[in-house]
Amino acid sequence: MKQNIVIKTPEELEKMRVACRKTGRVLKKLADAVEPGITTGDLDAMMRRLTAEEGGKATFLNYNGFPGAVCISINDEVIHGIPGKRVVLPGDVVSLDAGIWYDGFTGDSAITVMVGVTDPDVIRLVENTRKALAAGIAVVRPGAHLSDVSHAIQCAAEGAGLSVVREFVGHGVGRHLHEDPQIPNYGAPGHGPRLKPGMTLAIEPMLNLGQKEVSILDDGWTVVTRDGKPSAHFEHTVAVLEGGAEVLTLAN
Ligand code: MG
Ligand code: MG
Repeated sequence: MKQNIVIKTPEELEKMRVACRKTGRVLKKLADAVEPGITTGDLDAMMRRLTAEEGGKATFLNYNGFPGAVCISINDEVIHGIPGKRVVLPGDVVSLDAGIWYDGFTGDSAITVMVGVTDPDVIRLVENTRKALAAGIAVVRPGAHLSDVSHAIQCAAEGAGLSVVREFVGHGVGRHLHEDPQIPNYGAPGHGPRLKPGMTLAIEPMLNLGQKEVSILDDGWTVVTRDGKPSAHFEHTVAVLEGGAEVLTLAN
């Protein structure tokens, strides 16, 4: 398959930094607000308000018809959960996935929050999904193959006894939410295009505590684990620079 991977100019990278920083900042505020009793609709309203305060637009709102400003996926929900009346409860694992458009570019980032979780397996899931993202980012440098990122994530995930969702993957990001290349969270190293300075990539392991298989609910969006066990999701937008990866969606 022919890949059209956009190389951003230094000026475009600077705009990406701004959009991504806004994304990271707002996502952090949402994550801090997750507590028992809050509804996913409350968090969606907060996303809309904070995005407006940043002077941006919520990237996911109406994207392919998605009805929310942020994807909120709880427990066995993997990704693309629609915000609404659901109340967050103690013991929940809440994944938030969002992006902000600003000045022609978008960031994309996700974080999973544990709400009073005491189950050691669930803690292992969330902590190691965070670590799998870090492992993927750690191999980003010019000249590395794209699948080196995939492989690093798979090794981190399976080394922690977690399974990797196959049907959904990371991606290039910039003027569009989804650009080439696709970035699977599994695969042998040494394949695919070589990374080059100026590429901007959304790296996003989606890992399951149980089996890797997922299905989509009748709402047409929400992806859930088939075995009903919990799932976690972390994502950063990173830029490939001469010296390695710059994580663009940090909160500060
Ligand atoms: Mg995302
Ligand atoms: Mg993404």
